[in-house]
Amino acid sequence: MKYLDRKIVIIGAGPAGMSLASSLQLAGLDYVILEKKDEVGGQLPLIHNDLDDFVVGVYKDGLDFAQKVIDFNNKYRLNVEFGCTIESIDSTKKKIHCLQEGVEKVYVYDILVIATGSRHRLAEKSLINGYEKDVYYRISHKLNEFVDKKILVVGGGDNATIAALKLSEIGRKVILVNKNDEMISRPDLVSDVYDDPKIVVYNNSELVHLSGEELLKKVEIIINVTAVKQLIDIDKIVFKIGYLPNSGFVDKMIDLDDKAYIVTVGKYQTNIEGVFAIGDIVSGAYKRIAIAMGHGTELGNYFLKEYLVK
Ligand SMILES: Cc1cc2nc3c(=O)[nH]c(=O)nc-3n(C[C@H](O)[C@H](O)[C@H](O)COP(=O)(O)OP(=O)(O)OC[C@H]3O[C@@H](n4cnc5c(N)ncnc54)[C@H](O)[C@@H]3O)c2cc1C
Repeated sequence: MKYLDRKIVIIGAGPAGMSLASSLQLAGLDYVILEKKDEVGGQLPLIHNDLDDFVVGVYKDGLDFAQKVIDFNNKYRLNVEFGCTIESIDSTKKKIHCLQEGVEKVYVYDILVIATGSRHRLAEKSLINGYEKDVYYRISHKLNEFVDKKILVVGGGDNATIAALKLSEIGRKVILVNKNDEMISRPDLVSDVYDDPKIVVYNNSELVHLSGEELLKKVEIIINVTAVKQLIDIDKIVFKIGYLPNSGFVDKMIDLDDKAYIVTVGKYQTNIEGVFAIGDIVSGAYKRIAIAMGHGTELGNYFLKEYLVK
């Protein structure tokens, strides 16, 4: 059987991009991964909690799993261009503009797969200015800093409820501030939060001000429905306010959803012929390693069995 000789460019060497590339490599196809960092694995090294996943396996933390991905790459030598940050793409001319060590490079593709993942949404700088050392986005590796503290968790999704429940085990008190009428987290987690005597929930509320001299002492929240302002004693703040997609370089031709995630149909096909998206960057995707790897494997299989078959 012969495969069409196409230039395949994958952007991003996280679980999704690596999984697709490994399928293409094992089948002897020509491709390149463009990756802005100098190592493979994407967000994995940022995971400080233990990984206990039927598909992925059991690992001490994300770094431990990232090492397995690095080991795989050392063995099979996937074709990765490191230090290559994509600045823009032109899906009409099928060109990718990347900055590598300050030098602009242009790649031409026949098939483009965008696997650039997502990142934590950060709090407004003006809100947390001066209190950065009491502000957290990840807690697993710093749990000792929360012992016996009064902690504010901002958010209403699974990551916020999971953090609130974890912190209530070690903190003195946990306040959960959620901007919506109801938390959007899994119902079982929401009910655990409401049942926890150490957690107080403020729905429909927003954090508007932090105060304290050197250390954080108080926060002010506004309860939107009543417009009542409330001052609360707080030692630490944990933001769990969702993710942002790494899609800033995508041209206007490619359809994005209202949060700038890439819209796909069928086998990860965008609205532009020959442009695909996989992993966290896909609109509506559940942000998990197993899902990202599954997208890569499934797209690889589609390329090998249908899309690239002569
Ligand atoms: C703190 C934390 C804890 C998590 N815990 C878990 C967990 O317990 N279990 C679980 O299953 N999942 C967990 N996740 C989610 C999981 O890491 C992601 O779902 C997964 O990494 C997504 O893979 P991806 O390949 O789609 O994207 P990513 O891993 O984000 O990889 C994208 C790659 O694209 C590169 N890139 C981005 N923009 C550009 C650009 N412009 N040019 C070139 N390259 C670019 C990035 O450098 C990165 O290497 C966690 C994530 C975080 C941050």
